[in-house]
Amino acid sequence: MIDVIIIGAGTAGMTAAIYAAREGLDTLILEKKVYGGQIINSLKIENYPGFKEISGYEFATALYEQAVASGAKLSFEETVSVDKNEASNTFTVKTTANIYETRAVIIATGAEHRKLGVAKEDEMVGKGISYCATCDGAFFRGKDTAVVGGGNTALQDAIFLSDYCSKVYLIHRRDSYRGEERYVKQLEEKKNVELVKNAVVTGISGTDMLEEITVKFNDGTEKKIPVEGLFVAVGQMPDTKQFANVVQLDEGGYIIAGEDCKTNTEGVFVAGDCRTKDVRQLTTAASDGAVAALSAIHYLKLNN
Ligand code: NAP
Repeated sequence: MIDVIIIGAGTAGMTAAIYAAREGLDTLILEKKVYGGQIINSLKIENYPGFKEISGYEFATALYEQAVASGAKLSFEETVSVDKNEASNTFTVKTTANIYETRAVIIATGAEHRKLGVAKEDEMVGKGISYCATCDGAFFRGKDTAVVGGGNTALQDAIFLSDYCSKVYLIHRRDSYRGEERYVKQLEEKKNVELVKNAVVTGISGTDMLEEITVKFNDGTEKKIPVEGLFVAVGQMPDTKQFANVVQLDEGGYIIAGEDCKTNTEGVFVAGDCRTKDVRQLTTAASDGAVAALSAIHYLKLNN
């Protein structure tokens, strides 16, 4: 019987593993792809306390090495289900390769940024296209950029970028915003922000780096906008469907839990971007990992 299975080897999952393994728990991390989660693709991280600058790869590798040195094991296999065994108060975790029995589970599967689905989008990531203004905005100081989306993330990204960039276009597919009115008001007052409404991005061009985007308006007309940065903020998709039988999800698919990272099922905890929360950053993922592991440690002591 394993003490705790952590599903997902991103920042939240690996931080949870460091805390659990250091407590002496038999800790297994299950990861379907590569360790590191979203951050492994970031060229530079400049907003994680303690590191003036570090690449996503270096950061993720250091976390992985620290988790393993702490005593956690990592196995690359996709989790397909988690079921509670009421009689024994344990959990069965099935993967594509194995069936495990565990006393506690921490879900840290993260969320993926929704993509626009426009040609060249994947190719231009890191060459002008970004899904995180807070992470990459500072690299576009003095440049013209665009943000796509109409939710709070897009509105806040546009406000944030307007302090760095010479011009920010906010492109939204409708004429009213899903995000809060107070952010819209702030944007309307900014001289270097242009609100482009009723339009979607249909083209991305540039050879080595992003040079221009094409937007198509709902009336069928098109316009080319020269920009060096395009920040896509059209929502996220958490990777949680396979856990709907054991934890409560909100309408967006996020696992419902407060800052204590406890789900509605005793013994199942959630950490990082797949949890219901407002701020999804590396620092808050690490914070969740620590909190979820400490909650799990406390739970296991009470249920010994
Ligand atoms: P969101 O609220 O789901 O908004 C996504 C936006 O992208 C919507 O405006 C949507 O348009 C647009 N969109 C979706 N697919 C698109 C596509 N293919 N092409 C063009 N536009 C597309 O996502 P979010 O802004 O990331 O926010 C997620 C959650 O976190 C929300 O609950 C939000 O309130 C919360 N949040 C809160 C704060 C805060 O400070 N309180 C900050 C950030 C986020 P439509 O509106 O037409 O559907």
